[in-house]
Amino acid sequence: MASAARLAKLGHDVTLLEAADHLGGALEPISQDGFTWDGGPTMTLLPAVTRDLFRKSGRPLERELDLEPVEVIREHRFEDRTRVQMSGGSRAAQLEAFDALGKGLGRQWVDFVASYAEDWEVLRQHYFEVPWSPTALPREVAALLESRETMAKRIRRTFKDRRMRLVAGFPFEAEGHNPRDVPAWAGLVHYLEQRFGAWTVPGGMHQVTGVLEQRLATRKVAVLKGTAATDVVLRGGRVVGVAISGPDGEAEIESEMVVSAIDPRRLPATERYADRTLPAMPPQVFHLGLKDAPELPAAEVVLHGDPLLVVRASGNAWTVHVRGRLLEDVTVALARHRLDVRDQVVSRVDLGPRELVGRWGGSPYGLLWMGRNTVRHRLGPTTPIPGLYAAGAHATPGAGLPFVGLSAALVAQAITTDTGGGDLRA
Ligand SMILES: Cc1cc2nc3c(=O)[nH]c(=O)nc-3n(C[C@H](O)[C@H](O)[C@H](O)COP(=O)(O)OP(=O)(O)OC[C@H]3O[C@@H](n4cnc5c(N)ncnc54)[C@H](O)[C@@H]3O)c2cc1C
Repeated sequence: MASAARLAKLGHDVTLLEAADHLGGALEPISQDGFTWDGGPTMTLLPAVTRDLFRKSGRPLERELDLEPVEVIREHRFEDRTRVQMSGGSRAAQLEAFDALGKGLGRQWVDFVASYAEDWEVLRQHYFEVPWSPTALPREVAALLESRETMAKRIRRTFKDRRMRLVAGFPFEAEGHNPRDVPAWAGLVHYLEQRFGAWTVPGGMHQVTGVLEQRLATRKVAVLKGTAATDVVLRGGRVVGVAISGPDGEAEIESEMVVSAIDPRRLPATERYADRTLPAMPPQVFHLGLKDAPELPAAEVVLHGDPLLVVRASGNAWTVHVRGRLLEDVTVALARHRLDVRDQVVSRVDLGPRELVGRWGGSPYGLLWMGRNTVRHRLGPTTPIPGLYAAGAHATPGAGLPFVGLSAALVAQAITTDTGGGDLRA
């Protein structure tokens, strides 16, 4: 949606194909018994990415949607019953919170986060905000992306306290990665969270979809819902269109350029580029509708242990993500962590990882980290097929709303500067 809005504003004649009968992908809400839950994202980092998308495609965001900072993003609760709260956008608040957890831990945490400031600057300038060429990288960028240091190693080297290790590894564990396979530089998400905060839309992130859909209408993007792309049509090795399957059967749409924002495994023309990768799978997701839900102290409460439970609450609508071995009902698991809502559940939707991937037509978490080379296996913004570009969670620079937003900006830049030569990697 972000790519379509940007390209239409740049003067391209854009058609958006959506396999489902609605737009939004993982942003789609789930409703039942009067409850509405965000299906996937509930917060975003880097609000500047969303603001830039709106500014570059029409009216500014402020005129369309409230994007508000989340004050307390997360509370980590550990098995020894200690806890720590992560505030967004404040080094001082994080320093104080970790100091309360243990003497000297505040300094350890803020030094760890500060160690990513330079990585962010380097990668922002050459990877996140500018179409990159893996074969012609500036030296400092290559040094970072090719570094063998893993997140697990960095965490072990930096922290002795087991709880600090859990906090530092959390963003990766939560998305299904093993920190031993994640490069250390990816820890810059902690820096982004501390520096720029996490942001949300009151009433639910899913509202972004409606506003973006409106933007697509304003920009005269033709939106074909219930219409799946089944392949990219090539002539002489170059993109000339898309094969589709829609309500009227199979057809081909001519197109000079195609932006694929789905898992490359899903199209015959691109599946071979996914040979050496695996998708990062979603967790088990439980949407609970509660009567008189207790108020939670943070936008998300992380209950460490096996399984790892993450509770995200919007009033009486709770969503619980589970990673690891869940050998009992999720409400019993919550009760063990002293969040006993067993008698308050009035509505409930349980969704397994496979079901979610089926529903979304791929994993919104993009590629599983499998070592430092994973970045080279991501397509995008250009691809080896002339005329084909890649955006979305599976493309450069990766999953999560801010990065998916950046992927759309990268595609728009690549298309604007592309002289028809195709892949920047060539
Ligand atoms: C449980 C969960 C919680 C998350 N929480 C957060 C969060 O709090 N903050 C955050 O930043 N990120 C979060 N994420 C990650 C975020 O949701 C994704 O990175 C992002 O939504 C990916 O966007 P996307 O457009 O690439 O893919 P998707 O949102 O998966 O959308 C893909 C779209 O492509 C369509 N499609 C698939 N195949 C075809 C085809 N052949 N033809 C046409 N259309 C097709 C699908 O129907 C779908 O609409 C979360 C993810 C999950 C699973």
